[in-house]
Amino acid sequence: MTETVIVRELRHRYGSTQALDGMSWSAEHGAVTAILGPNGAGKTTMIEMAEGLRRPSEGEVRVLGCDPWHADAAHRARVGVMLQDGGLPGGTRPSRLLRHLARMYASPADVDALVARLGIGDFDRTTMRRLSGGQRQRVALAAALVGRPDVLFLDEPTAGLDPHARRDVWRLIRETRDAGVTVVVTTHSFEEAERLADRVVVVARGRVVASGSVAEVAGTHTLEESYFALTEEVR
Ligand code: ADP
Repeated sequence: MTETVIVRELRHRYGSTQALDGMSWSAEHGAVTAILGPNGAGKTTMIEMAEGLRRPSEGEVRVLGCDPWHADAAHRARVGVMLQDGGLPGGTRPSRLLRHLARMYASPADVDALVARLGIGDFDRTTMRRLSGGQRQRVALAAALVGRPDVLFLDEPTAGLDPHARRDVWRLIRETRDAGVTVVVTTHSFEEAERLADRVVVVARGRVVASGSVAEVAGTHTLEESYFALTEEVR
């Protein structure tokens, strides 16, 4: 199976708001898929369904061949999730937290290597709650990678990072992809999509308005120009 994540005709309402209105896309094995779309387009709702955190009211999600809502612990161990606000405990130091998480997996990543790779050693004497947003972001990415997942969901992984940290994160995501992991990343950065994505999915008002390689979605324009043309009329 080459399509590791399949989202089919998802619909979801919050009261009178139609957050998802027939959202369909898929992510291939060993590729980076970038989801781009304005605030309110339904990205978070849809990603939460793919992560198994929210149950779709209509439509279907398949991740590694399973329905994530009903998936067992073995499935969940194969899925790495980096949430935007981290959800990581405040009183712990980064590498201690990562070692703790590593013990939950049968064959975890090498924590020292992850710590070095993401420059976490520079602030490892600080507790999580005292870290800057960018530092916390790097720990959250390490936490998503520590179980050596087959699928990785990253919500705006480089938001708030300085250029060096952003470059390091991009390298790590590419290496992760090259090791055969399916990576799904939401982003508001055209540069990030252009540098990372094998496939781009543009969403607006709960639907996919374009998908394909960066070159296919951009057409004769830049990705940014095409994005505005695609999303302006549906905002
Ligand atoms: P995005 O991540 O693309 O910004 P969301 O999935 O967060 O989009 O939101 C899609 C729409 O659903 C927005 O109009 C948002 O206001 C609405 N929404 C999201 N979560 C809730 C909720 N818990 N209750 C009510 N409305 C919500």
